[in-house]
Amino acid sequence: MPYNHILVAVDLTEECDPVIHRARELSVSNGAKLSLVHIVEPMAMAFGGDVPMDLSQLQQQQFDQAKERLERLKAKYVELEGANCHLTYGQPRQEIHHFAKENTCDLIVVGSHGRHGLALLLGSTANDVLHGAPCDVLAVHLVKR
Ligand code: AMP
Repeated sequence: MPYNHILVAVDLTEECDPVIHRARELSVSNGAKLSLVHIVEPMAMAFGGDVPMDLSQLQQQQFDQAKERLERLKAKYVELEGANCHLTYGQPRQEIHHFAKENTCDLIVVGSHGRHGLALLLGSTANDVLHGAPCDVLAVHLVKR
């Protein structure tokens, strides 16, 4: 059965090239709609939720930077033309699953690794996304940096 709606999750690094290409190929060969999502992790979450200072300004900057990077990504990839690109705050696994459910995506495409150099110790996002996913998940193999 062909996929109808493919969701590609990107960390907005150069590493996401093969992930986007693979998702795009699959969307073309399946005649599927393509959506892209990036999650901005709240700083307090990265620090364990217990930070004795106001991070709102820094957080806004972080969100604005992600927005700029997403715009650059859209300009760089003709593949993303027509794709629904979505930027949101939260915890990647939770938000990716939420988006996939809300938008009845039937395939989530992620990279086998991304920004987190310590992913092997901490558990990678790809691994996280796989657990409890509402649909199929494809982890595109990325050559280690
Ligand atoms: P990581 O485990 O963080 O090294 O990343 C593995 C893959 O998960 C990346 O190649 C992306 O496909 C996806 N990913 C990681 N972080 C995010 C994020 N903040 N938003 C969306 N996708 C992400």
